[in-house]
Amino acid sequence: MNKAWTLEIDHDRIAWLTFDCPDQKVNTFGAAVLSELDSMIEQIGTNRGIRAVVIRSGKESSFIAGADIHELAQIKTTDDAAEKANAGHETFAKLAALPVPTIAVIHGPCLGGGLEMALACSHRIVTDDDRTRLGLPEVGLGIIPGWGGTQRLPRLIALDQSLTMILTGKPISSRKAHRIGLADAIVARAFVEAGVRAFVQKQLAKKRVVRRRAKESMMMRLLTSTAPGRMLVYRSAAKQVRERTKGHYPAPIEALEVVRRTYRRRSLDEGLAIEREAFAKLAITSISRNLVFLFQASQRLKKSGHDGAQTALPRPGTAGVVGAGAMGGGIAWALSRAGMAVRMKDIAWDALGRGMSSAARMFRSAVKRRRMTESEMSLAMHRIAPTLEYIGFEKLDIVIEAVVEDIDIKRKVLADIEENVSPSTIICTNTSSLPLQQLASALRRPEQFVGLHFFNPVNRMPLVEVVPCNESSQQTVHGAVELVRRLGKTPIIVGDCPGFLVNRILLPYLIESAWMFEEGIDAPRIDGLLEAFGMPMGPLALVDEVGIDVGYKVARVLEDAYGERMHVPTGLGAVAQEGGDLGRKSGRGFYVYNNGHRKPNRSAAKIVEKARGRDGVKPGELNDDAIVDRAVLIMVNEAARCLEDQVIDTPESLDMAMVMGTGFAPFRGGLLRYADDRGVGVINERLQELARRYGDRFRPAGMIQNLAREGGRFYKEVG
Ligand code: NAD
Repeated sequence: MNKAWTLEIDHDRIAWLTFDCPDQKVNTFGAAVLSELDSMIEQIGTNRGIRAVVIRSGKESSFIAGADIHELAQIKTTDDAAEKANAGHETFAKLAALPVPTIAVIHGPCLGGGLEMALACSHRIVTDDDRTRLGLPEVGLGIIPGWGGTQRLPRLIALDQSLTMILTGKPISSRKAHRIGLADAIVARAFVEAGVRAFVQKQLAKKRVVRRRAKESMMMRLLTSTAPGRMLVYRSAAKQVRERTKGHYPAPIEALEVVRRTYRRRSLDEGLAIEREAFAKLAITSISRNLVFLFQASQRLKKSGHDGAQTALPRPGTAGVVGAGAMGGGIAWALSRAGMAVRMKDIAWDALGRGMSSAARMFRSAVKRRRMTESEMSLAMHRIAPTLEYIGFEKLDIVIEAVVEDIDIKRKVLADIEENVSPSTIICTNTSSLPLQQLASALRRPEQFVGLHFFNPVNRMPLVEVVPCNESSQQTVHGAVELVRRLGKTPIIVGDCPGFLVNRILLPYLIESAWMFEEGIDAPRIDGLLEAFGMPMGPLALVDEVGIDVGYKVARVLEDAYGERMHVPTGLGAVAQEGGDLGRKSGRGFYVYNNGHRKPNRSAAKIVEKARGRDGVKPGELNDDAIVDRAVLIMVNEAARCLEDQVIDTPESLDMAMVMGTGFAPFRGGLLRYADDRGVGVINERLQELARRYGDRFRPAGMIQNLAREGGRFYKEVG
């Protein structure tokens, strides 16, 4: 087997240890790689002539992406987990004990186990490249750093900075790493080698290995020097964790507890033992398994959709957006951010102005978060050219239509686009509910046509549904998939049906919540229970965000397509039409919004009360479980139908799409993993019970009935 590590000792007696995992795009730390490193360190330790060790990556643009996720997924018992943690602790202890300067040279992502190894070195040098990011993302996998991160980081940098890195899992830039003392030096990418050599010589001029002292603010130094001061820091961190995780994710709380018990109270070895125990406990929880599963599923999804065919999409490429509304502006932003030259067309200058402002808003927020500089923003804005005519469209590689959701207007606009582009241009539509086939028939070259369904807001939502029509050529679909990837988003290929995948499953959940509201259940109670279940926002608050008028219109389209099971309560439409309450945009919807606060909208409740007679609804009490089951199981039922109808190929892709498209509770691993965990048999019975009480919309899908009969699961393999 090819080795991952190579050791060269130069004429200056500096050992250059290069990490380059064979046959992998990025370096990851698995058991074999770790044990290879262990032997290298032992070899270095026995060579008295070596004066310094430099550890670097052989990959072009990444240092170490973290632990081998597949090995993490294989952990079955706490003993397995503790053993894994221990292997890292032992190897890194040997690295830390080398009597010469040990320098990690970090270019590109340095995450998880990679950063923990770098922390065991005496020094770290980072490149000034934007791709260089350092982080401990373990909490995102439901675990804590298990190779010394919780111990060595707070010993190196200020306590508050370490807690932010460990508890949020968010990586930091190389500039920040240098500022807070995590990196000893920052060098230009182009002069890395010279920079490292100069740094090594400086270290060799010192009599002994001198490690950098933590850079702390005066306030932090005062706080951390006393036990009550530290307690204040921990309390404030715990409050932030609770607010962020709403109690669904135990890992950050556990990580905080490990730091609290060990920081300035225990030796490194004692601290590592405490870290190991906590890591092992978390690694076998269902939450960690679910999060690891989702991570693997997202990696698979990123690679899928290509079956060998080449796309004709040049780089960086040129694109057009027709319709400069909420979506058009966002799509133009995404295209320009990816370096593409963009033409944005609308029918009025004020509409174009709005589109340009929403793109500018998204860029400004990136500047604020230091994701780009002011001058990069200005360049990116100049790449978007607003226009009222189809000028220059004949040169575009791809055009995305995002005009109003009206079949006649869209057919006309698509035909106009086709008239003005070249025969090889890919034409996409961002429709959210119109059947693609009815749009395709307006075109002379439907093989160039495909649906590209972005979610709102474009700058925050990572998923894009790619919807081929019957005639879409493979090249067209691949071109669309390729574009989505270049935008840094995840494409998912779904079948052409009303609502496509995500909205077809989400809408029944929103409609069911509107029925419960009409039965007299308070909006905060419904929303609170579903947030406690793990949804990022309650269903009625979500309808308010989308707009009750918009939500009602889409729901009616789905009702026309799917009938009884998506029947919409008339009260929902009445809130918008009679009350004029359109949701957050009008300040009133299910809630009244005022200065960042909200309270239930009594007049909306009164309006739906009047609708009860028309809808044949009786007011009644419901227990908490019934509320959650009605909202969630109706989604499970529709998800099963989507699999039956082959709207999507696997339960895994479906779960990923729901997590990425709706924020469905990641710690549950997705909708169908949740169903499997609860048992399809149990779900079948519960749906039947609900069907007896509320009607046919809860009748279990054929797939659920079959799986229940056979004692089966949505996922064939238990993972
Ligand atoms: P919007 O009303 O904000 O914008 C539509 C824009 O299209 C307006 O600026 C309008 O002037 C322009 N327009 C109308 N006729 C035109 C024509 N003939 N030529 C050029 N421009 C024309 O709408 P939106 O919310 O941005 O939605 C656009 C599309 O995206 C719709 O198909 C919608 O279903 C879909 N979509 C919307 C969302 C959402 O949450 N808003 C999410 C996903 C998909």
